Amino acid sequence: MNETNLKKLLQKFPLINDLIEQKTVLWENDKYLKNPSSSTQVGLNDVTDAAKRLERFAAYIQLAFPETEKNNGLIESSIIEIPNMKMLIEGRRGLRIPGKLMLKCDHALPISGSIKARGGIYEVLKHAETLSINNGLLNLEDNYSKLNDDSFRQFFSQYKIAVGSTGNLGLSIGIMGAKLGFNVTVHMSSDAKEWKKALLREKGVTVIEYESDYSKAVEEGRKQAESDPMCHFIDDENSKDLFVGYAVSAFRVQQQLKQLNVKVDKDHPLFVYLPCGVGGGPGGVAYGLKQIYGENVHIFFAEPTQSPCMLLGMMTDLHDKIAAQDIGLTNKTEADGLAVGRASSFVGKEMEPILSGCYTVDDSFLFRSLKGMYEQENIFMEPSAHAGIYGPIILLNEGKSYLEKHGLLSKLENATHLVWSTGGNMVPQDQRQLYLSDRI
Ligand SMILES: *Cc1c(COP(=O)(O)O)cnc(C)c1O
Repeated sequence: MNETNLKKLLQKFPLINDLIEQKTVLWENDKYLKNPSSSTQVGLNDVTDAAKRLERFAAYIQLAFPETEKNNGLIESSIIEIPNMKMLIEGRRGLRIPGKLMLKCDHALPISGSIKARGGIYEVLKHAETLSINNGLLNLEDNYSKLNDDSFRQFFSQYKIAVGSTGNLGLSIGIMGAKLGFNVTVHMSSDAKEWKKALLREKGVTVIEYESDYSKAVEEGRKQAESDPMCHFIDDENSKDLFVGYAVSAFRVQQQLKQLNVKVDKDHPLFVYLPCGVGGGPGGVAYGLKQIYGENVHIFFAEPTQSPCMLLGMMTDLHDKIAAQDIGLTNKTEADGLAVGRASSFVGKEMEPILSGCYTVDDSFLFRSLKGMYEQENIFMEPSAHAGIYGPIILLNEGKSYLEKHGLLSKLENATHLVWSTGGNMVPQDQRQLYLSDRI
């Protein structure tokens, strides 16, 4: 972006000045609609279809990953209250958080310990199902545990799967793909942690490393995969399958909140805070939640101050035509899962009527929150996952206009704040100790 264009942009969107200064900001989405009509690219039927597919695969998942047995082969995490963390935040911030503070524990999702165990694994399974059915090896009515047989592994070994990732998507695709027998190649950005690459190589996955960031890793992966008809490229920037895989979580949240006797209706608003990288994970979840809860759910995306790509893309309407680097930011953050400079335009456009807003959070908060959560609740979440924790703080401090506009100020005592914890369980002990120490 040249200087005159940037100047024009700054005049039109003065909030960019704050982004340039790396201030934490709350942006209200002015295209938000109380009751958005169904989108053009994804329908609710796509999500129910995905939910059914995951049920078909449950028999296989249970067999291949015994840790999923207790949930009958469904890859799901719990929702819990975090009262001690709430007290800690209130004490530190001199702020009262009315209502409940709850955590969606995707850091503890089985198989790959992050939100990517939803979309990423779903797309691999869908691809495996399509190949098997097209080759006459599988029927929709079959017991899918047969996918665990050697004959299937041999069949899948003719095929390749490739993906570009900052780390966690690569882990999910790599672990699931390798288990089924696929040849998996993961194109890793420079942000990816060493241990993630090592773990994948251990599982027989090919890891290609790049000096540059996520966008480049995806681009290279896409290019290499295009030239090979046996290769399926999982496109984190554009994939509808990833998106609907994430969206299935909304049905599960609905059941879980019911079981927990947490009401969501016009007098009991639900606020959801989702860490955002390229947008697919949080976008899919947001899409699903909106279908279920309509105007009673208020969804905010969280991004590092160095990587506010979705905020920039949606606010300016430029979507993937603008990057964090265009306004002089580095896209360098310890929140590796969120180190994305350019957002998905597919997701950004889907989010126009759905998302309440985006906010930014700095790395120092992520580390304070990481330690606090560990000490108060004995929960370990990776830095990216803590971006959600900042949500209630910035909304209550700076979101008065939003709350007022939607008649929420008088309902806050009945509110539920659901922070989506997006990752952590795969982080090795020595890395955890490093995060918990004062050396970072
Ligand atoms: C990938 C990831 C996100 C964000 O998901 P996107 O689809 O990239 O927006 C958030 N947190 C963690 C830990 C992640 O790995």
